[in-house]
Amino acid sequence: MTVLALSGGVGGAKLALGLSHVVPAADLLIVANTGDDFDHLGLSVSPDLDTLMYALAGLDNQTLGWGRRDETWSFMETLGTLGGPSWFRLGDRDLAVHVERTRRLRAGETLSQVTAGFWQALGIGPRGIPMSDDPVRTRVLSETGWLDFQDYFVGQQCKPVVRELAFHGVEHARPHPDFLAALAAPDLEAVVICPSNPFISIEPILAVPGVRDALRACNAPIIAVSPIIAGQAVKGPTAKMMQELGMIPSSAAVAARYGDLLDTIILDSGDAAEADAIDCRVLLAPTLMKTLDDKIALARLVLDAART
Ligand code: GDP
Repeated sequence: MTVLALSGGVGGAKLALGLSHVVPAADLLIVANTGDDFDHLGLSVSPDLDTLMYALAGLDNQTLGWGRRDETWSFMETLGTLGGPSWFRLGDRDLAVHVERTRRLRAGETLSQVTAGFWQALGIGPRGIPMSDDPVRTRVLSETGWLDFQDYFVGQQCKPVVRELAFHGVEHARPHPDFLAALAAPDLEAVVICPSNPFISIEPILAVPGVRDALRACNAPIIAVSPIIAGQAVKGPTAKMMQELGMIPSSAAVAARYGDLLDTIILDSGDAAEADAIDCRVLLAPTLMKTLDDKIALARLVLDAART
């Protein structure tokens, strides 16, 4: 089974970890959103790629819900005493990743080469690639004007009302060639849209020129897991954004947003009442992933859905 998973950070990484337990490593390709990437303190930061990397390596910080486990904060403390910017927190171990990524990018490696090197060094089996090696930067239009994504997301903790989103540079971005090759491969058996934020994690991937057409042309079923349970996001601003963009927060709205791309959407068992409002096939399952077993069970269900 060859499986392609489209993922943002936290929600996507949970299902990606489940998939990594049920799909042979060589048969799983994870494509990550890079619209959240930014330069900070002179460093290249790739939040979704790193969230995936930490989760798949078993190094994620489950207490914080982001970043790396066994983290220490000497760097941030020292930066603070010097009057440096403290709004974006970089732990000491996490910092090493950004320093080394920046060094390699400056030495001429692509983001996908750096990512491959890191994942191999950490013993991660499946491959993860950025949606593109070209820079794409998500921007948020709020009542006060356009904001850089991390200013909105971390700096202002998603408080500004979102009017519109834009993916700066996306028109010039080329999809990662292995992403397109996987979509065109005759043995592709499933495309999984992980339970990530549709607007800021999945749509930047879909906005890369050629990606929507390649998804429509691929032979494999496209299966999404809804990130909304009982009208609410498990974490983060997905439901708030839906409201601000004029939708009723629901899995039905997620399905409508992905539109005719979807063959199947998996909703949480408690949301059965929404099924009638959805055009594609709907499956019901427990979709809240708290434990590794939850992640594996949902991954199995997604693969079963692809086979039937
Ligand atoms: P980010 O890039 O770190 O914001 O992460 P994602 O976009 O990948 O994930 C955020 C989304 O994941 C939110 O909409 C959450 O509702 C969703 N999410 C997080 N955990 C779970 C879960 O266990 N089950 C489901 N169904 N969705 C989840």
